[in-house]
Amino acid sequence: MSIIQNESAQKLQEGLSLEGKVAIVTGGSRGIGAAIAKDLASKGAKVVINYNARKDAADGVLFEIDQLGGSGVAFQADVSNYDQAHALVENTIDYYGKVDILVNNAGITRDRTFKKLSEQEWNEVINVNLNSIYHTTSAVINPMLEQQFGRIINISSIIGQAGGFGQTNYAASKAGMIGFTKSLALETASKGVTVNAVCPGFIETEMVAEMPEKVLEQIVGKVPMKRLGQTAEIADAVLFLANNSYITGQCINVNGGLYM
Ligand code: NDP
Repeated sequence: MSIIQNESAQKLQEGLSLEGKVAIVTGGSRGIGAAIAKDLASKGAKVVINYNARKDAADGVLFEIDQLGGSGVAFQADVSNYDQAHALVENTIDYYGKVDILVNNAGITRDRTFKKLSEQEWNEVINVNLNSIYHTTSAVINPMLEQQFGRIINISSIIGQAGGFGQTNYAASKAGMIGFTKSLALETASKGVTVNAVCPGFIETEMVAEMPEKVLEQIVGKVPMKRLGQTAEIADAVLFLANNSYITGQCINVNGGLYM
């Protein structure tokens, strides 16, 4: 009871402020993750941006956060690696003292029809998209339970709900994230830790730019809103979940009406 009362009172005072909160955004150096990191920072959260290979991109996001008057730091870590993901969380706690919000956003595609899909392409996608959320979440869960506050937000995909041609590996990883979200939410609901997913449709990032133009045109034709989504539109949903204390185990669809 006291967790609820404290959170409500705090929210009444702070409105949509994330002042004093510390957030990790995996894959926060580009695309959707970068938009999420900037949005969280603009609301006062101290933000750790994780990247894998492109330090230049992470530095660019840090510069923008600085321009917003926010606080951020970037740590390199391959989140498909258990030890590196745990080091990311340890570095965050060393630097900012705690973790309140974990956004599991890092993800890759290795699209191939199943007949041609190699074991390596299967494993790479499962490791980066799905095993990574076990790695990072297992590192934050005890500190979050101890402080009786946590927001874990997993960036899944419409493909995890509806499937996708040439995407058995990606769809399996993203559907797995939804099952993980609902199960962990049950375990932590009474302890102040919410666990939710956001399922984007097709969003204008480098990941989508890799798709053949013709395929993309066909997809946009099927989207009721007749356009791709913007990264800021995903960040909005993450911010909403980061601020909410009574939504857990849910998957918020942000897809222009493509999957209902
Ligand atoms: P981008 O390809 O634009 O960015 C991917 C980010 O993930 C980069 O910051 C990259 O870092 C990081 N990353 C990749 N591999 C690793 C790794 N092993 N360890 C740590 N970080 C890693 O992707 P999007 O912004 O498009 O997608 C973000 C998330 O949203 C993904 O999970 C994706 O599946 C999901 N999504 C995207 C959709 C879209 O239409 N774009 C639709 C539905 C879901 P670096 O640059 O250093 O490699």
